Amino acid sequence: LDKTAKLDKSGDNLEVKQDDDDKEDKAAQSLLNKLIRSNLVQSTHQVEVLQRDPNSPLYSVKSFEELHLKKDLLQGVYGMGFNRPSKIQETALPMMLAEPPQNLIAQSQSGTGKTAAFVLAMLSRVDLSQRHPQCLCLSPTYELALQTGQVIEQMGKYCPDIKLAYAVRGNRLEKGQKISEQIVIGTPGTVMDWCTKLRFIDTKKIKVFVLDEADVMIATQGHQDQSIRIQRMLPKDCQMLLFSATFEESVWKFAQKVVPEPNIIKLRREEETLDTIKQYYVLCDNKEEKYHALCNIYGAITIAQAMIFCHTRKTAGWLAAELSKEGHQVALLSGEMMVEQRAAVIQRFRDGKEKVLVTTNVCARGIDVEQVSVVINFDLPVDKDGNPDCETYLHRIGRTGRFGKRGLAINMVDSKYSMNILNRIQDHFNKRIEKLDTDDLDEIE
Ligand code: ADP
Repeated sequence: LDKTAKLDKSGDNLEVKQDDDDKEDKAAQSLLNKLIRSNLVQSTHQVEVLQRDPNSPLYSVKSFEELHLKKDLLQGVYGMGFNRPSKIQETALPMMLAEPPQNLIAQSQSGTGKTAAFVLAMLSRVDLSQRHPQCLCLSPTYELALQTGQVIEQMGKYCPDIKLAYAVRGNRLEKGQKISEQIVIGTPGTVMDWCTKLRFIDTKKIKVFVLDEADVMIATQGHQDQSIRIQRMLPKDCQMLLFSATFEESVWKFAQKVVPEPNIIKLRREEETLDTIKQYYVLCDNKEEKYHALCNIYGAITIAQAMIFCHTRKTAGWLAAELSKEGHQVALLSGEMMVEQRAAVIQRFRDGKEKVLVTTNVCARGIDVEQVSVVINFDLPVDKDGNPDCETYLHRIGRTGRFGKRGLAINMVDSKYSMNILNRIQDHFNKRIEKLDTDDLDEIE
């Protein structure tokens, strides 16, 4: 398999460009998060559970032993360094492993342990006496499928008889061949071909169906239809499991189409607040002045680590180049980089090799870099229509209770237009953004 992490733009669908961009965005973010994730995202919220049968008892486990897994599988779990189930796993695992099998729709932010949970469920349901696909997992892209495949291989390390096949583009098999692997992971288009035209998979023998990253999946209309068509080919008693990091209305509708009679588990994400953030703005006349203001405050911001956000790739590239010319050490995260390159840049920054990271909004959305204490909006966040994008503003500079460190945000304003945006952001959050004089920086330290 070719494991380069270039995004699947051509692969499984023939959607219009806009859709593709959207999808690439979401899929890239998701992959990036997986590549840079070093551990579990903790949560202070309780899981919300909606049981299909409200009268059946609700089990939750505090240890992996309580799940009575096969020895080899438990060894695989501990081998990955997991000591105890994550918050969502505490409730999701008993449901997923119950007899008779139950269907599940689960939503929680990326990094909370969903993948590990369904991988465990698939591995534990494999019947080793049968040499045909029994578990089928759909992922939105080639790269995401490979990532999940790696988790299956890791967790199944001590179960040498469990085999995994990748139904992804480029993985060509002889026509008419049947597959003996018990777990198949792939993208909807290729899986569809394997189940229908090529008949590599007998869908009637599938016992567990997993639909991962449902929110990324439905960003492509074609994937949604293909997933539903695949689901329709499965037997009635097949266990259906669906996972999503977010849960907007469209995901919910889709989930209900592919998961009949579901149990539902939700774990709310930590909310960000501006309470511990000092917010400033700097008044300039143009891009060059913004650059000079930035140079003036550079010393102050590199005390900790800073991220600088620009609106376009072009500005980000220009700014990083100018700062480098001045002898400053900056890292640049840009949209044209491959996802693995981006992950490497973020890793270097996290390791403190660079103190300043210049990026565009799209690139850095949804990425937590915990030690960042200064955020500079070189351009203010606006949406497609040029209105203030308050949500993005909050994500960029807000802190969750967990990392409740004090932070500093500096906004660069270079026109009446951006002053207006700033004022609207200020009104939205009802939190004062103070003017900063970059020739007199005592107040920010
Ligand atoms: P999600 O699918 O929700 O994004 P993952 O299953 O990929 O989350 O888990 C996120 C990270 O946490 C991964 O690095 C994974 O290895 C780790 N992880 C998952 N479950 C546990 C656990 N019970 N204990 C410790 N680490 C875990």
